Amino acid sequence: MAKTDQVAELVVVGGGPGGYAAAFHAADLGLSVTLIDPEKNPGGVCLYRGCIPSKALLHVARVIGEAKESETAGVSFGAPKIDLDKLRTFKTGVVERLTSGLGQLSRARKITFIQGRARFTAANELEVTGVDGAKSRLSFTQAIIATGSRAATLKTLPDHERVMNSRQALDLPDIPKRLLVVGGGYIGAEMASVYAALGSKVTMVELTGGLLPGVDRDLVKPLETRIKTVLESLLLKTKVASAKVQGKAVLVEFDGPDGKRQETFDRLLVAVGRVPNSQDIGLDKLGIAVDDKGFIPVDLARRTKLAHIFAIGDVAGQPMLAHKASHEGQVAAAAAAGKKVAFEPQAIPAVVFTDPEVAWCGLTEDDAKRTGVEVKIGKFPWAASGRALTMGRSDGLTKIVVEAATGRVLGVGLVGPGAGELIAEGVLAVEMAAVADDLALTIHPHPTLSETVMEAAASVFGKSLHYYGR
Ligand code: NAD
Repeated sequence: MAKTDQVAELVVVGGGPGGYAAAFHAADLGLSVTLIDPEKNPGGVCLYRGCIPSKALLHVARVIGEAKESETAGVSFGAPKIDLDKLRTFKTGVVERLTSGLGQLSRARKITFIQGRARFTAANELEVTGVDGAKSRLSFTQAIIATGSRAATLKTLPDHERVMNSRQALDLPDIPKRLLVVGGGYIGAEMASVYAALGSKVTMVELTGGLLPGVDRDLVKPLETRIKTVLESLLLKTKVASAKVQGKAVLVEFDGPDGKRQETFDRLLVAVGRVPNSQDIGLDKLGIAVDDKGFIPVDLARRTKLAHIFAIGDVAGQPMLAHKASHEGQVAAAAAAGKKVAFEPQAIPAVVFTDPEVAWCGLTEDDAKRTGVEVKIGKFPWAASGRALTMGRSDGLTKIVVEAATGRVLGVGLVGPGAGELIAEGVLAVEMAAVADDLALTIHPHPTLSETVMEAAASVFGKSLHYYGR
């Protein structure tokens, strides 16, 4: 059955931001690397059907939103005309450009790229099924598992093209008149924003009492306030009890605080979390057991219980974020190259690319309460920021959590346009063990939103110039 036998010093299974980072770094460190992925080029879910296409669409949503809001400054453009084919072409063009670029970078590093799906058959051997179904065998000295995750499904919902996951929704099959987004997490909030901007009447249904459960409520509140203005409705503490496809519509029964009721939608988008791709890759042949969530247990260097096999990214635990995977991938690659390394970040930033954007890193106020860490909080509302007001946006907030005894910055949170860019300063502050005064005394350019970080840091000790919130 095996067509060809190949040998790899290091094989990386999965070519997403974790896998390709691992492969590139390992090649840079002198290892001979084979990278296996079902797509034509590296990129994975993030580039092909996640982070990148969604951000291309969110960019368009922002342009539509800003054009509408410019009416308050006396500039009107009229209702947008959406050419869905052109929009798809724009989005696909971005994906093509980035993934083919990764293909070139991979070839430049002399990485052997195999298009196919891998499954371990023994401790030092795997089988690859190519796109044409042909099977081949590959033996390896070391391996990095970077198989990522897939969308979780709900048993109560039918398997039908009108019930989409994020991947199908990113294909933009049409602009449904009425869309139900199930799940108020990262993907739900981002995709609801996209479809609402394109003209769908969007209802969001979330199981818990608010959007983005687990995220600091001070940061979520401005998002909830604003997203309600673009949604038809936001149903909290509600679940979808059942759904039935009826012709071109989906009849949904909700179970919420006011009991059960039914409503009809053209399409559903389900975003209720993701599950690791740890099944069907032959872990049993390696004797590696997953935890109760399906993640592969790893040590600080990202080694599994087998010293020559590593696991990184979504398949190796939360948070399921591309930048975490990328850094883990480089740690695993360095360990495979014989270096003494550990994945020990002080802070991993998280960004929800809605309008307003929500971004945070490190310790939150709630974490501090839960764990008994004594902290001081600094806040700077963007209503006091000159730059925010010139953008017509006063709904943002910058928040800093510092250790009470030392003033050391333990966490930063932001909500507002551009929060996803601004959080990098917070991550650097936490990683560099900066104290609040380091941020407050650093001269930030005026007038910019970055000043809100400086002012929030100053406000920890009641020294903010533009916010007298003592
Ligand atoms: P999520 O965990 O962020 O949110 C899922 C939401 O669905 C939660 O709010 C949960 O309470 C709700 N939920 C669960 N079951 C439900 C039900 N039956 N009815 C209604 N609501 C229900 O998951 P996601 O939005 O699917 O995203 C998955 C992962 O992908 C995230 O954890 C994140 O790591 C990653 N992601 C990141 C970004 C980003 O970085 N901007 C964007 C998209 C996805």
